[in-house]
Amino acid sequence: MTVEVDIDPDILRQGLTKIRKRRWILWATILIYVPGLIIALEMEASSGTLGKLFAIWIILLCVAVGLATVVKCPGCGNTYHTNGPTFLPVRRCVHCGLHLNADKKN
Ligand SMILES: [Zn+2]
Repeated sequence: MTVEVDIDPDILRQGLTKIRKRRWILWATILIYVPGLIIALEMEASSGTLGKLFAIWIILLCVAVGLATVVKCPGCGNTYHTNGPTFLPVRRCVHCGLHLNADKKN
């Protein structure tokens, strides 16, 4: 699936930059889990504190997934990562196939 990119390059860049930021937040939230857990264990946090930290992490993850879910594709105006109930954090728009780095080709 290829896309004819006849969108304003500024709008395209802005839209894709936003998507890249949201993806970065999502991956950072997921990746912070292991070092966060190690730090908490090294600090000999009680199980109650660990439970609270885990709850905070779950909330952050929900927010990050939410932000990545609602972000719009600058090419077709649909949600970039979501097609109906399916959330796919792939590097292409699930509707029109616009690549995450489509603005960097030129
Ligand atoms: Zn699209």
